[in-house]
Amino acid sequence: MSTFTQEPHKLLLIPGPIELSDEVLYANATPPMPHTGADFIPIFGDAIRMTREVVQTQTGQPFLIAGSGTLGWDQVAANLIEPGEDALLLNCGYFGDSFADCLRAYGANVDEIRADFGKSVTQPELEAALKAKKYKLVCFTHVDTSTAVLSDAKMIGETCKRLAPESLVILDGVCSVASEEIKMDEWNIDVVLSASQKGLGAPPGLCVVIASQKAIKVNEVRKAPIAGFYSSWKRWLPIMQAYEAGKPAYFATPPVNLIRAYQVSLTQITKSPTISLQDRFELHRKAALRVRHAATELGLKLVPVDPHYTANGMTAIYLPEGLGVADVVPRMAQRGIIVTGGIHKVNKDKYFRIGHMGVSVVHPERGDIAKAIAGMQEALQEALASKKATLAAKESYKPSPVRNPAVPRAYPRSIAVVSARL
Ligand SMILES: *Cc1c(COP(=O)(O)O)cnc(C)c1O
Repeated sequence: MSTFTQEPHKLLLIPGPIELSDEVLYANATPPMPHTGADFIPIFGDAIRMTREVVQTQTGQPFLIAGSGTLGWDQVAANLIEPGEDALLLNCGYFGDSFADCLRAYGANVDEIRADFGKSVTQPELEAALKAKKYKLVCFTHVDTSTAVLSDAKMIGETCKRLAPESLVILDGVCSVASEEIKMDEWNIDVVLSASQKGLGAPPGLCVVIASQKAIKVNEVRKAPIAGFYSSWKRWLPIMQAYEAGKPAYFATPPVNLIRAYQVSLTQITKSPTISLQDRFELHRKAALRVRHAATELGLKLVPVDPHYTANGMTAIYLPEGLGVADVVPRMAQRGIIVTGGIHKVNKDKYFRIGHMGVSVVHPERGDIAKAIAGMQEALQEALASKKATLAAKESYKPSPVRNPAVPRAYPRSIAVVSARL
């Protein structure tokens, strides 16, 4: 263990990238190892094995390939879709839209069940779609990072097993792996796709995909050529198998430092003597409750409408009426806390998002969540005070009371409600 400690920085509480441990950062800062060398091979093999543990699969095949989470969509589409095949997408927001666009780029016919903003797709809606048509893929975003809506992965996997046993169930877990429980085998999930920089607690740049043996088989027997070169599972499978067996192999250079950092993070996630994987999920649930509670105490509304379908690794909170993202997010940054605005196309200026994943919640002694909550309170208070001052100044300027007799309210009602609670 080194004595490395990271330099002071603003607290990064967005839904990825996130705060990282010193050990993970240090692993990323070591001189590169040769990718086919004896030192690196066991690190890669370990990373592959521990990836299985995080999503609770015995037989799933991990693919650790340089790229961001988006490459996971490309892998799914390039390997599992042949032109003209049907895919069903359960859409809960921005990332559902992009996943659908990616599938279409590879020639898929995509049907979408679109949930209302803040909601997830229901079981009756899914059942009706599966009864009406056969789909090669059923895809969903486990946590749609644009809304913080958590889909019921177990329900989706089990419903597909019952009504569409041949379909492959694809879970976009970029914002859920390692912060939400996923039982890939038990829940009938065929592909989990993710990335290093969110709950997995490593720097950005590594795409993490786990494919069931059924998905691997579907790719092997496809008729159309695989619609990709770098993303081809046929090219990467022997590489992953070789590293896991302790042998060198080469297709394209793996990001050696990043895999080292990822392996250190996975060791912290799966091999901690004090915090089990179950404890980790529980700690995320607790942190999420704390943030949601603080928001509702301030009179704020959450974007997800149902607490059962609300993410544990992030929170999306409506701003009081009259305030925009620019009123609050920069004020939190001034207090050393980085959160972010909305990204849903309809409402993006009406809400903001706080990420609470990884070390920030697994090590409460850091005080990150408490800082976020205090920062949110102060920033809102200051933003409301400044808004009121502006509105009061406007109101006191009354050039012609005769022509304009209606006395405007000093400030919008919801601002009054929130400021009364502060
Ligand atoms: C962040 C995210 C992505 C995209 O991942 P990148 O690493 O930015 O390419 C996809 N899906 C979800 C749910 C995400 O949160």
